[in-house]
Amino acid sequence: MQACLATKKESNPLENDIRNDWTLEEVNELFALPFNDLLFKAHTLYRKYFNPNEIQASTILNVKTGSCPENCSYCGQSAHFNTGLKKEPLWEVDDVLEKARYAKETGASRFCIGAAWRGPTDKDLDKVVEMVKGVKEIGLEACVTLGLLKGHQAQKLKEAGLDFYNHNIDTSPGFYSKIITTRNFDDRMETIGHVRNAGLKVCCGGIIGLGEAEDDRANMLLVLANMSTHPESVPINRLVPIEGTPLEHDNDSLHPIDFVKTIAVARILMPKSRVRLTGGRHMFSEEMQALCFFAGANSIHYGEKLLITPGITPEKDNALLARLGIVTM
Ligand code: SF4
Repeated sequence: MQACLATKKESNPLENDIRNDWTLEEVNELFALPFNDLLFKAHTLYRKYFNPNEIQASTILNVKTGSCPENCSYCGQSAHFNTGLKKEPLWEVDDVLEKARYAKETGASRFCIGAAWRGPTDKDLDKVVEMVKGVKEIGLEACVTLGLLKGHQAQKLKEAGLDFYNHNIDTSPGFYSKIITTRNFDDRMETIGHVRNAGLKVCCGGIIGLGEAEDDRANMLLVLANMSTHPESVPINRLVPIEGTPLEHDNDSLHPIDFVKTIAVARILMPKSRVRLTGGRHMFSEEMQALCFFAGANSIHYGEKLLITPGITPEKDNALLARLGIVTM
């Protein structure tokens, strides 16, 4: 009888919060909870580790647009698809820093720099290093997303003062090859390993609405939750269908409630991580955003553009946050 009770206690996520030994069965059980029970559980845990009325806001800037050799089916920047996107070479450092200053003035605490590469060359990286140093001098946290990294490159970014490296796993290991074939899931994990070894914080999440099964959502979160250290930041994107890409048609199979449930499960699995609403947030109603914040989302990408997809104006975001009594930090 005693042994039975001990087993039950271990499997209660509210009594043993920070774990990296989740099973697929446990994650599926969370997804299967009645919606109100799931949200209650997620929100209870959320309050234990965070002030639920405070969210973190990042601004993201694309500093090199298009002509990417990778073939991510959702992405308008891939050279494999004809999306009519205006391509741009790598920006100059001063131009990037001007945008960073504006981001700080409009309330962002973190500035993210994205470049459409499979991975940076060492020469490209030198320029990004100057951008990172400049962003830090302005007084913002710095994050970059540059694709696959080598160990020495992660080290160089750390020495420049970088705080976060973003590298999403996109989807589950099993569904990965349906979305991207120019690299594999392990390539992605290898870069995350280099980032961790360099002492950088990890920003790593995925995309919902790619046509994945519910099981894929559970498996994607399982990989994140079972990392030896949870990613400090977990961006959950909603697919933004882009004309000319293989995923140009919206996938009706994603019900908005399933998106909220994914946020809630991420919150339960990674209680101390910042769970971020990012790509696709402009497609959500304000009520849905409020529900996501209640479920445990506590970070947003702020600004009218997210890489190449639409964002929300700071004015509109500020009005919603004020209505909800939520402040940015
Ligand atoms: S998501 Fe990134 S790696 Fe994939 S095609 Fe787009 S820019 Fe390239």
